[in-house]
Amino acid sequence: MAFSTAAADGGVESDRLWSRLHETVPGVVFIAPGDSKEERPIAEGQSRGIRRDGCSAECRVVLTLTSDSTLASGLPKRIAYLGPRPDFVYLDEIAKNGHVLVSADGLPVIVERRPHLFMGVSPWQLGSPVMPYLYPLLKAWLSQRAGLETMPASPLAAFRFDDLPATAHEVISASRVDELDHARAATIGRLRRFANERGVVMSFAYSTHFPTADGFGRIADRMPCSVAELKKGQAEGSFEIGSHGMVHLRHPGDRRPEAESDHREFIDLDERATEDHIAASKGEIERAFGLAPRFFVAPAWAYRQGVTKPAAAKHAAISIDSTQHVESGDCPPIGATDPETQRPSLAETFRPGASLLNFTNPDFWRCYAVAGIPIHFMQHSDVDRDRLGWVIRGMAAGLPQSGRLRRLVLAMDSASTPAYRRAVAAFVIAVNGVGFGRAVALFLREARLDVYRVMGAALSAGYRCVAVSALYESLSTRG
Ligand SMILES: [Zn+2]
Repeated sequence: MAFSTAAADGGVESDRLWSRLHETVPGVVFIAPGDSKEERPIAEGQSRGIRRDGCSAECRVVLTLTSDSTLASGLPKRIAYLGPRPDFVYLDEIAKNGHVLVSADGLPVIVERRPHLFMGVSPWQLGSPVMPYLYPLLKAWLSQRAGLETMPASPLAAFRFDDLPATAHEVISASRVDELDHARAATIGRLRRFANERGVVMSFAYSTHFPTADGFGRIADRMPCSVAELKKGQAEGSFEIGSHGMVHLRHPGDRRPEAESDHREFIDLDERATEDHIAASKGEIERAFGLAPRFFVAPAWAYRQGVTKPAAAKHAAISIDSTQHVESGDCPPIGATDPETQRPSLAETFRPGASLLNFTNPDFWRCYAVAGIPIHFMQHSDVDRDRLGWVIRGMAAGLPQSGRLRRLVLAMDSASTPAYRRAVAAFVIAVNGVGFGRAVALFLREARLDVYRVMGAALSAGYRCVAVSALYESLSTRG
């Protein structure tokens, strides 16, 4: 499959990747910004970028299929991309003797000029993608022009929730753990009802313990209502439980703020300690849920090389990586063999972040569905806590360093502050900083960004939402 070829050598990093792709995808030429005489790089102002106060530049680019080529059959004709300004290369010169397949705001980006397909876009379009048309066109090119057999698409999506119902840090720092429990139980209840209504399976990476004065306590004892909701979902066949380690802290018991914000539980652990943590987590999940965990994700995806994954693999658990780790070359992309375990990688394929606004658009997902690219997407809640945090930090960046307002803003960006309180506070601050009209527009837009809309869009696009373990099984049997 094209996307795993693209990343087989370790993600986007690079010239190596570009040249490798050039060799491995017959007839396809990727043009990086600034590396060809035949094109011109994107110029400021060519797409309608707006700089939001304190946030990175955002824009809306209309991507259009300008061709009735058979390569483009089954694809949506037009997608309005929302997010940071895409790093496209416009192919005007190549287009003069070619056939434009995709244009961005009217300028050619993907052009067929036989015997070549020219792509003015990075070949890595997972994680935080800007060009949804790339993979379906590549797939069509491979089968129709290069005569290669490609896999039929049966698109699967795995939606995973980490840190629910709570991490050690949240349990320790909450002023009222019972309130936290009720809030999280309500969230899990909403997810469960959605899963049952829409025939969706969801996966939860569960962290099992928290440090106490004389050892470790069980999260399940402090969050009983939430655990009851998880068990209901599990009994209904809508939820799957995996292990998210034991304490979610690198330095359990150290109450200094810098220690409490370091969640890389496994990064310093030797083989023996790693085994202990994984066994404790597994044992507690078996006790609380009656089943062994179906997968493993280290807190902050922080695996100690040569230690953590092999230890987790002994318990038949699937280890999960982030898209950032794929991009930095630390792990293989989804479907490729992980050298540490000799099993298929189950790395995530999309992440909350720059492209998130597109994830509620069914047409966006339709492109990936046509190419058969799996969705593996992680969230911490049903409203997008990460996104809200990103907006809040963006606002804080525009405020004076030592000001009270800045401290207030940053205090809102805490996992233990309920989402509605952070949203209200951020709204007040936004009114202060950017004016009422824009603050309303901003928060109406943010408020729509819940995971139900993302899952609904994926379902409309033809994805089947399955458990993490089912996605893994499909990759293992694909060969
Ligand atoms: Zn976590």
